[in-house]
Amino acid sequence: MMQTNLVSKSVTWTLPEWIDTELSKNNVYTSLEERMDLAIRLSLANVIQNTGGPFGACIFERKSGTLVSAGVNRVVPTCCSLAHAEAVAIAFAQQRCNTFDLADENLPEMELVTSAQPCTQCFGMLHWCGVKHVVIGATSEDVERHTGFEEGPLPNDWRKLLQNRPRFAIEVTEGVARERACEVLMLYKEQGGVIYIPQASELLSGY
Ligand SMILES: [Zn+2]
Repeated sequence: MMQTNLVSKSVTWTLPEWIDTELSKNNVYTSLEERMDLAIRLSLANVIQNTGGPFGACIFERKSGTLVSAGVNRVVPTCCSLAHAEAVAIAFAQQRCNTFDLADENLPEMELVTSAQPCTQCFGMLHWCGVKHVVIGATSEDVERHTGFEEGPLPNDWRKLLQNRPRFAIEVTEGVARERACEVLMLYKEQGGVIYIPQASELLSGY
């Protein structure tokens, strides 16, 4: 009789097939606006294609603007509550750079550009992944107001906590293309997108 695995031994995260169609061929995004434009376009495509929640995030080499990784929210399709856009972008960047430490001295400085403010989970991840600059579109309040998602118990002084991080500061830039980021959140709600909160089954009834 075949031995059944008692536990899973691997987890797979994937990006949707359409992702390539949103990326520029030269892979360089010079301004912050161009970088945020990509993160928001990914969030929009994720909603339109029905491949996850209304969030996109990318990691760039801060100075050159070279794209290192792209991420979209994949919580529902991958059956994984960790698969927020920021987490996906971080995981793929670390895999590509072959290190857990994106602040490694052999790498260029890294920047995370995200269509919406990191939730409490993603705020925690920022401390350990090695990015030195976080660029944000929509605020947490926007996310909660426009979608019904909960952002979790984020500390009031989250900016200061990032800036005062031991060993290196994580700089925060907010409000880049906020309105466009909010439009995607509103579209998700209009389309009846899943609010993937544990025990929120009443919110899933239309799905
Ligand atoms: Zn998150």
